[in-house]
Amino acid sequence: MSIDRRQFLKIAGFSTILGIGAATAVNSVRRDAAEASQVESGPDALKAKRWGFVIDMSKFKTDDDFKRVIHACHSIHNVPDFGEPKDEIKWIWKDAFERVFPEQENTYMTGEMKEKPFVVLCNHCAEPPCVRVCPTKATFKRKDGIVMMDMHRCIGCRFCMAACPYGSRSFNFRDPRGKDENGQPFIKEINPEFPTRTKGVVEKCTFCYERLAKGLKPACVEKSGGGIVFGDLEDPNSEVRQLIGKQYTIRRKPELGTQPSIYYIIGGSENA
Ligand code: SF4
Ligand code: SF4
Repeated sequence: MSIDRRQFLKIAGFSTILGIGAATAVNSVRRDAAEASQVESGPDALKAKRWGFVIDMSKFKTDDDFKRVIHACHSIHNVPDFGEPKDEIKWIWKDAFERVFPEQENTYMTGEMKEKPFVVLCNHCAEPPCVRVCPTKATFKRKDGIVMMDMHRCIGCRFCMAACPYGSRSFNFRDPRGKDENGQPFIKEINPEFPTRTKGVVEKCTFCYERLAKGLKPACVEKSGGGIVFGDLEDPNSEVRQLIGKQYTIRRKPELGTQPSIYYIIGGSENA
């Protein structure tokens, strides 16, 4: 993909404001290998008008239930472990109810309820503010609703991180391909089928676009023991629509108008 003069000037302008070399920025754009957007879909590819998740929290009973899905995602996507909370890279993680649903908290809620852990990830918002602010279109929304990251286009300005109201994006302050002071690699075992990233780029969940292209469900869904259901929100017969239609579900910060595609069942399901 080439860039025209207008795009060049726009990117160079942003880069100057941000103190990033224009050449670096443009090289990033030129390199647009765009593994994010140009994965060939096979004949068995899973398709939808708008992908979404229903997460049934009654199925996440133990710490291992959380660890299993987090490990499944982070290991296949070469997510580095820098060992420092301030540098943490996370695509899917667990967080306390009071931070996941701050608007639902009330004075009389017990500490135990406030601390109840929830599974969180990018919401693949239908109206994603992160996409609107990205100067290089490194983050963009696909027709099927997946909010993608093209790491080659990211110039590290972190506008998207500031715009995301859910903290769903992480920045590589260090080189994820590097090692710690004891010589231990930040990525324990590299999956050669998924690209590693570099220092200075933003990353997040991409709904396992590379697995969907091969007809596979997202890794976290597979390992969730039925706790995460995946499907087409626009299909009234899909399992996600059946669940959302029959059960009380909530989404994160709906008042912001971002239209998250992740729905939570917090009161348990019929089958729990
Ligand atoms: S959760 Fe954040 S990063 Fe994900 S689509 Fe919404 S605004 Fe963008
Ligand atoms: S959909 Fe894929 S990339 Fe997103 S959290 Fe689940 S396993 Fe990770």
